[in-house]
Amino acid sequence: MSTQARRKFAFFNWTLRPDRDEDAPLTMYASRCLTLNDDDTECAKESPPSKDPTDPQGWTFGHMRTHPEHTSCAEVIERPWVMWRQGPT
Ligand SMILES: [Zn+2]
Repeated sequence: MSTQARRKFAFFNWTLRPDRDEDAPLTMYASRCLTLNDDDTECAKESPPSKDPTDPQGWTFGHMRTHPEHTSCAEVIERPWVMWRQGPT
């Protein structure tokens, strides 16, 4: 007599999509300074996240006023996605 339990597997299809549900987290925007320091490390100072994509642009100008040589930045976007399951197939 076998002591092994029988296992049943179900296979599902998973889909990944942007989360546009009413209760989804907001898409957030930030700006990160890409300027390299003298030791070749990235400045990496980053604006606070904002739901308004123009807020980080204002931060970038402010950062450049205090660090005039820091003229390179990246827009950082955090967009919620969700996975949902279909199946079993
Ligand atoms: Zn910087």
